[in-house]
Order: sequence, then C-alpha cells, then structure tokens
Amino acid sequence: MNREAKLLENLHEVCASLSAACQRAGRSPQEVTLLAVTKYAQDEDVLFFLRRGLIKHIGESRVQQALNRWSRAEFASFEVVKHFIGHLQHNKAAKAALFFDFIDSLDDFSTACIVDAHVPAGKIVRGLVQVKLTQRKTQSGLPLEEARTLVRQLRTLKHLRVCGYMAIAPQGAPAQELRQLFAPVREAFEADFSPERERYLSLGMSADFEVAVEAGSTLPRIGSKLFAQ
Ligand SMILES: *Cc1c(COP(=O)(O)O)cnc(C)c1O
Repeated sequence: MNREAKLLENLHEVCASLSAACQRAGRSPQEVTLLAVTKYAQDEDVLFFLRRGLIKHIGESRVQQALNRWSRAEFASFEVVKHFIGHLQHNKAAKAALFFDFIDSLDDFSTACIVDAHVPAGKIVRGLVQVKLTQRKTQSGLPLEEARTLVRQLRTLKHLRVCGYMAIAPQGAPAQELRQLFAPVREAFEADFSPERERYLSLGMSADFEVAVEAGSTLPRIGSKLFAQ
C-alpha cells in the first residue's frame, strides 16, 4: 500500500472508531472534533491531509517547532485551528499568544496572564485548563479542584477565553480505570461550562480515545494512530 492510501486508511479507522464510540454513548458524532496531533508527523503526511481538507484542528507541543513548520508558506496557506498541547513555559507564552488559536494546557494563572497580554488586537485565544488525573510526578496539570479555581480566575481575562478542560490519562490504564478518572472531569465540565456557549472537553489520545469519547470528550487528540506507518 502506498503512503497516501495508508494515511487515508488510518483516518478512516479513526473516524469509524469515533462514530462507533459516539453510537455506544448515544452521542452525535457532530459533537466530536478530531484534533490531529502533528508534533511527530512528517511534513508530507500533514500536507497530504491538509490539501484534501481532511484535518481542521492540529496540535503541536513545542512552540518553536510549531512556528518553524506552520509559518512556512506551504503550511501557512491552509486555514487550520492551531492548538498548543504541550507544557507552556513563561518565556514562550507571548509567542504562543501570537501564533496559536487555542492553548489546551493551561495550569498556571501567571502564564495565562502573559498569554492574555500578548494576544494581538482583534483576536481571541481559547484556553483549556489541564487537569491532572493521577498523583504521578510526570503528569502535568492541576488537581481537579485547583483546576476549577483556575477557571474562575481565568474568567477575568479579556483576550484569553477559558472554555473547557483537558486531561492526559496514564499510559496503559485499563478501560475501567480510565472511566473512573474521566468521570469527575466530565462532571466538572458540565457544571462549569454551559452547553449554550462554545465549550470543549479534550480527553483521549490514540490509545484511549474510544473510552474518552464514551466518557464525554468533544476534542480527542490523536497523533500516532493517524500518522502510523
Ligand atoms: C503527543 C500528544 C498526544 C497524541 O498522542 P498519540 O498517542 O500519539 O495519539 C495527545 N495529547 C498530548 C497532550 C500530546 O502531547
């Protein structure tokens, strides 16, 4: 199979699994937006999807790497919504405000304030607060109650609009554990973000997006499944 056929097959499988998960959960597939994580992907693979209009939201986890790729003319000509999904450092926050449409990994008010202060005139940057699901040191984000407090603080900002939660599940966790970890985040999301406004719950990656969508995710982040060889 050539590379293009393989990429189409990958996308088809991801979309089929997403719809099946929606169906099991009694949800409409229209509630779910695929966030294509392009951080490890080859330029040619990303361009293949872009030229066919098959990906609309992309995620990158390093500010400089994202700038290097997406400011080149061949990439910049496509209209895609750009999400920052990595850990945002203070000294990168101003650049991120210029470049990204979404910061999906907010976990600190002072960094968010830098973003807010550097959003160009006429632009709004959407922000999600990252919830830490386990006590493991390698997990970033905030414990749920602190995340909810940060949401309230962020509502005072003018150019950064907080509109949901993001979380990364521990690798290899069984479905039952994933459900238990996702459920409280979903509950907080329903309580803190009105369905009448734009809102996003970003749970799930290649390994766990089906459980995440059943658990209410509206913005699964998928990299390796989409770009697999
Ligand atoms: C890399 C990354 C993903 C994508 O992971 P895959 O397992 O390749 O789908 C999703 N979310 C975050 C925050 C990431 O850093």
